[in-house]
Amino acid sequence: MIDAHCHLYDAADVAQQMYLYERGGVACVSEDLTSLERSLALAEQWPGVIYVGGALHPAHSVTITPLELDKFFARLEEVHSRLDLVGESGLDYKYAVTPEQRQLQGSLLQRHFDFAARHRLPVNLHSRRAERAVVEAALEFRSTTGLNALLHWFTSSRKLIRHGAAGGLFFSAGPVILEDENSFRAACSIPLELLLTETDAPVPFTRGGGRLEAVKEVTEKLALYHEMSLSEFELVLRDNFRSYLADPAADTPGAES
Ligand SMILES: [Zn+2]
Repeated sequence: MIDAHCHLYDAADVAQQMYLYERGGVACVSEDLTSLERSLALAEQWPGVIYVGGALHPAHSVTITPLELDKFFARLEEVHSRLDLVGESGLDYKYAVTPEQRQLQGSLLQRHFDFAARHRLPVNLHSRRAERAVVEAALEFRSTTGLNALLHWFTSSRKLIRHGAAGGLFFSAGPVILEDENSFRAACSIPLELLLTETDAPVPFTRGGGRLEAVKEVTEKLALYHEMSLSEFELVLRDNFRSYLADPAADTPGAES
């Protein structure tokens, strides 16, 4: 199974759930300094299974002080060689309401893009109430750097999926597709080679949103739609996850990063 976006900071939880990921991987994203350190520790414990994302969540952009921001990016630079991706970054207009706040969020996103470009890392993006803006920013990032970008929990707009997929963006579907027909339809429209699965665990959102096991149900439902056996479909997801993590411009495409 592949979980392309979750927040797991409790190693015991992960140990319990690891059987699910025997043939897969987990992208463990962070949102602040504390979660970054925990994710790094987790990846050391589970090499080859846990992949670490470093970033400051966009929700923090309007409250963080410039000093704290510099401290965060200084630490990110220090640990850059231990990161597999940059995330969870993006835009969140629930927390940025005024033009000034949105501008602040935009410049924080750009700072993450610059960091990712410098260290040749893919990005993992959040886009609440800012779907189009994040798709456009991700397309720009992809075309200027050649690096991969994933729009996480992105099953709200088939039109934007089509637009982003044309530029090679990855999209991940979460447990919301288990109970919302429109989200499921949107997930089905993601081109197979750009599709990933996720839980966003432990965020409690829907029936399966807070559970790691939900990724199995999500995978089964999409496998059925694509008329593939579960094991066949899992291989596709695993290959996609590898492609997403790899630097497309590197000499050994598809190699684990
Ligand atoms: Zn998240």
